[in-house]
Amino acid sequence: MVGKSIHWKGKDVEAQIETVNKAQETVDSSENVSIAVEAHDLTVSYQTRPVLWNVDFTLPTGHLVAIVGPNGAGKTTLIKAIMGLLPLSSGWVKLFDQPYQDVRTRVGYVPQRESVDWDFPTTVLDVVVMGRYGRLGWFKRPKRSDLDIARRCLAKVGMEAFINRQISQLSGGQQQRVFLARALAQEADIYLMDEPFVGVDAVTEKAIVELLRELRSQNKTVLVVHHDLQTVPEYFDWTLLLNMRMVACGPLEESFTEENLKKTYGGQLPILSQAVEVVTRERR
Ligand code: ADP
Repeated sequence: MVGKSIHWKGKDVEAQIETVNKAQETVDSSENVSIAVEAHDLTVSYQTRPVLWNVDFTLPTGHLVAIVGPNGAGKTTLIKAIMGLLPLSSGWVKLFDQPYQDVRTRVGYVPQRESVDWDFPTTVLDVVVMGRYGRLGWFKRPKRSDLDIARRCLAKVGMEAFINRQISQLSGGQQQRVFLARALAQEADIYLMDEPFVGVDAVTEKAIVELLRELRSQNKTVLVVHHDLQTVPEYFDWTLLLNMRMVACGPLEESFTEENLKKTYGGQLPILSQAVEVVTRERR
């Protein structure tokens, strides 16, 4: 309650206490929700060609956010721009009101599976322990507690039996689980995931969804590039619709509308009508 004072006159003590408690609750609940990611006037270009134009959005903490849009819409580019991996032509991005560099240990990243060299000779446990390096510093040896955290995260994604396996000897779904465990081991506050559901079986998909919900219940923010429009309403509570420009960003029921989907996907109506049907059904 910094900077706030409460005055009262002529009330009995119980009423006074209740007043203080209520005020405290209000402050506590507003402190619980803060801005996780804010982008302003963000433009990103490859060579001279802009692929993201004037993107503006604000994401509060504690939401599962689907980034949706057609191929080439700039979804991966947006994730990379948030993480400061690409130069910006204009604008800025802040995480918890700070530049990425100042909060990078609070950001967990799950890249697209195919963008990773899975032939690299390393074990599952090593990959997950790498998630701890942001906290350790690159030249420090992991402590026993880091190894314990890595093992716990692997258990959480059902991969405890594979800790000594070479990563080249995993199925697609298992690779994805290892990457999730690595992000969890980082104990981040914001997670950026690029298509985590691609190429995984139904069991892994369910496991990932459960994990996302658990992260949300811990007030973490998760941004997920997601292709399957039909599962958006079931898995996510916010959407960011993108097609080089931002079409909408907000709570599912405000942003994931037929009109916005049409603006995002243009003429690709067959996919659209099915997705909108799901949303409409869910809203009934
Ligand atoms: P999405 O993830 O929505 O499919 P991307 O962010 O991968 O879209 O790509 C957006 C656009 O930027 C596409 O037209 C793509 O071809 C282009 N692009 C992506 N990466 C590069 C790169 N490294 N150099 C040049 N163009 C790129």
